[in-house]
Amino acid sequence: METIRRGLEREVVGKRVKTVQVTGTRTIRRQTKKVFISKLEGAKINGVERRGKYLLLKLDTGDILVIHLRMSGQLLRAQAKDAVVKHTHMVMTFTQGGQLRFVDPRTFGELFVTTPEELTSDVTELADLGMDPVDEPQSWVKFREQLMRRTTKLKPLLMDQSFLAGVGNIYSDEILWEAGLRHDRTPQSLSTMEVRRLYRAIVEVLHEAVKHRGSTLSDEQYVDLHGKPGEFQLLHQAYAREGQACRRCRSPIAREKVGQRSTFYCPNCQI
Ligand SMILES: [Zn+2]
Repeated sequence: METIRRGLEREVVGKRVKTVQVTGTRTIRRQTKKVFISKLEGAKINGVERRGKYLLLKLDTGDILVIHLRMSGQLLRAQAKDAVVKHTHMVMTFTQGGQLRFVDPRTFGELFVTTPEELTSDVTELADLGMDPVDEPQSWVKFREQLMRRTTKLKPLLMDQSFLAGVGNIYSDEILWEAGLRHDRTPQSLSTMEVRRLYRAIVEVLHEAVKHRGSTLSDEQYVDLHGKPGEFQLLHQAYAREGQACRRCRSPIAREKVGQRSTFYCPNCQI
């Protein structure tokens, strides 16, 4: 998501919306298409922020365009002459030319326009969003404080958006591999050294992921604004490497179902 935010910052900030076309009914579901379109047309995009998995486009009208891609949504930059691919549900054309398109085969994603005041009641998840190490680094002392207030096991904790914003199934496995910690450890069982390792792993893995434009897997739709898949999946140490040799100790990587999700880890060197 951070990769997409950086793309938007380069490509749409400073542009003014000329027209908006909405097709498909599920993409705009919190307001009518008419309201959605009227709040966007004529507005200039002043900035783009990411909070967890949400993208917030700040408009010069004071409103915010909220974009949540969920599992299947894609944002693509295009020219008006480019063929419109199947499942394109929204096309925004800028006065300077060029378009931003929202493509979503499974229609889980959504877009809506709101105000800064209403944002957290519209998206309650944003009201208590956890720390975001990519956006705003914080000291490890503060990290430890927040960690010790939790009693959840490490894997679900890393995926809890109120603890850590923006981390899902893939990055939680990569972070725990990097830290050399098992997914079912609890914060209270960690030594000071292990807390430091966990903190460092979070920062390192997320920065590396952003540098390599995220991970694209066969069952996911993630691409950057130009339709290019990410490259971080080539560097995965644990995720989707079941049976392959651990790059640290050569033991085979294990796969275990935790909740509904597969967890990949090295049973030998993650302790
Ligand atoms: Zn290992």
